Amino acid sequence: MTSLLLDRIGQLVTNDPSLGDGPLGLRRDAALVLHAGRVVWVGASADAPAADRRLDAEGRCVIPGFVDSHTHLVFAGDRAAEFAARMAGRPYAAGGIATTVAATRAASSVDLRSGAAALAEEALRAGTTTIEVKSGYGLTVADEVRCLEVAGGLTGETTFLGAHVVPPEYAGRSDDYTALVAGEMLSACAPLARWADVFCDRGAFDADQARTVLSAARVAGLGLRVHANQLGPGPGVALAVELDAASADHCTHLSDADVDLLGDSDTVATLLPGAEFATRAAYPSGRRLLDAGVTVALASDCNPGSSYTTNLPFCIAVAVREMGLTPDEAVWAATAGGARALRRSDVGHLAVGGRADAVVLDAPRHLHLAYRPGVPLVHSVVRGGDVVVANG
Ligand SMILES: [Zn+2]
Repeated sequence: MTSLLLDRIGQLVTNDPSLGDGPLGLRRDAALVLHAGRVVWVGASADAPAADRRLDAEGRCVIPGFVDSHTHLVFAGDRAAEFAARMAGRPYAAGGIATTVAATRAASSVDLRSGAAALAEEALRAGTTTIEVKSGYGLTVADEVRCLEVAGGLTGETTFLGAHVVPPEYAGRSDDYTALVAGEMLSACAPLARWADVFCDRGAFDADQARTVLSAARVAGLGLRVHANQLGPGPGVALAVELDAASADHCTHLSDADVDLLGDSDTVATLLPGAEFATRAAYPSGRRLLDAGVTVALASDCNPGSSYTTNLPFCIAVAVREMGLTPDEAVWAATAGGARALRRSDVGHLAVGGRADAVVLDAPRHLHLAYRPGVPLVHSVVRGGDVVVANG
């Protein structure tokens, strides 16, 4: 197990206020020493101890690896034609998911695995070092198990989303499908998942159905997440808070009461700007949430229908431009915020003891992630103390 010295860092984002300036804990002329997958030393570059290997940042900015707490990487097919139609004026509805369900059921596990792995690799190259991956395009017991096995090959942050939509063979019998999800499907999937998630929205599952699935999942030992209030006002956020879910995701249509509930809870509001972007929906105000004391995360929602991007720098830029986050808040939300949304204390920061996951930016400051949208700014990626991407 060799150590790595990452030195001559022009600006280091630690996300630990005790290590530097402001909420991001910013330091100038800094260095990190990484060993056995952890950060073991943080300080001034001039004082850095020697290590087995060295990565010279040459004055660049270094940030914690991105924590993408919401993706749907396991699927087959794409929905480019649906995107084009939507951009020509057709609205987005939850039912489009059925297209991907049919393609996913028909795909081999080998093909599902290679497709998901390619997307995870794409995310890594863009700086994502921790990623959550959901099932939800199988929607039979066997296909949800298959999708979670694929997800488990990519990450420990696996989420059972059997309650994504009601599949076509259960049309008009959503309570029967809910019983399957909360019963036999959950029993088969719980050993493969850390989390359970429900799409609680119009066209998907109502509050009672969502509560049934989530309550059973909690009994089965899973943590809880909710797709909430994306397509319209609804009960998703209140349910997430009621059940102490780790995260309520989307939060596009919130009442004042929803915002107050989130502000008084441990439930993170995870904003998914790629979804509003790709469905041409109005963006929620992240500013309103932050001003109410809500913890905000940013995630990609990577999926073939409504947000086909793995790129958190893109999400940061959109969140700053359209959701009222400052560049500092957006970088925090895509790193430390994502970690909170996964209830992880070992990622999303670069303090001693944290995981050795860091991104060297081809930029002098983290501000450039929002300031230079669309520009590939990832110089190199360190994960678990190893340099896994070297673009420089
Ligand atoms: Zn989603």
